Amino acid sequence: MKPVITRFAPSPTGTLHIGGLRTALFNYVYSKQNNGKFLIRIEDTDRERSTKEFEKNILDNLSSIGLTPDENPINQSERNEIYVKAAEKIIESGKAYWCDCSPEDLELMRKEQTEAGKKPMYDGRSRNLGLPKTDKTVLRLATPESGEIVVKDLIRGEIKFNNNELDDLILLRSDGTPTYHLCNVVDDFEQKITTVIRGEDHISNTPRQIHIQNALGYPELEYAHLPLVLG
Ligand code: GLU
Repeated sequence: MKPVITRFAPSPTGTLHIGGLRTALFNYVYSKQNNGKFLIRIEDTDRERSTKEFEKNILDNLSSIGLTPDENPINQSERNEIYVKAAEKIIESGKAYWCDCSPEDLELMRKEQTEAGKKPMYDGRSRNLGLPKTDKTVLRLATPESGEIVVKDLIRGEIKFNNNELDDLILLRSDGTPTYHLCNVVDDFEQKITTVIRGEDHISNTPRQIHIQNALGYPELEYAHLPLVLG
């Protein structure tokens, strides 16, 4: 059996709240129960909302109650090159494409879909166009159009998602910066995480992230989505 490695991955856009603290505690306890490691990753790619003060508040609060990580925390804001390399690997494998749809195109697409009673989502129109990269194109993942993804959750059991309900998510923005999902998946691999324990508000992200893992040939992770702390 591989040693269990868990992580707490806060976005430093506010002080540590009770839900985050509970997520960190579960990650810590699960790793220690299994003689594994507990790591911390600061997901500070949202430059406008992330601050060093919030980061310090989160780390200080965790260490004040003994939730200290087994390695130094890493910051996503310092790891851009790693994510861009991963995106390049997906391009080489043919599982991503450049899309030049403007915000206006996307808005019109959403409007037409809503009017037709459909779920609004990117319809994959640039997928087979073989467009080149420009300063106006985003990189999208070519998500399988049929079949399903089964998330095996330690708390909820199997959760199934139809691939045709997932749109081709953006991996790189037009300015070349990586998106949240790509960074999250690449870092779970780079930090050798085995078990992702996080709030259930992330459940709908999980099948999308599994598609990115598959495109990169990463191993499967174990998941546990915790009910949210409300009120
Ligand atoms: N950065 C995310 C958040 O603060 C957590 C992502 C994750 O645990 O995968 O909600």
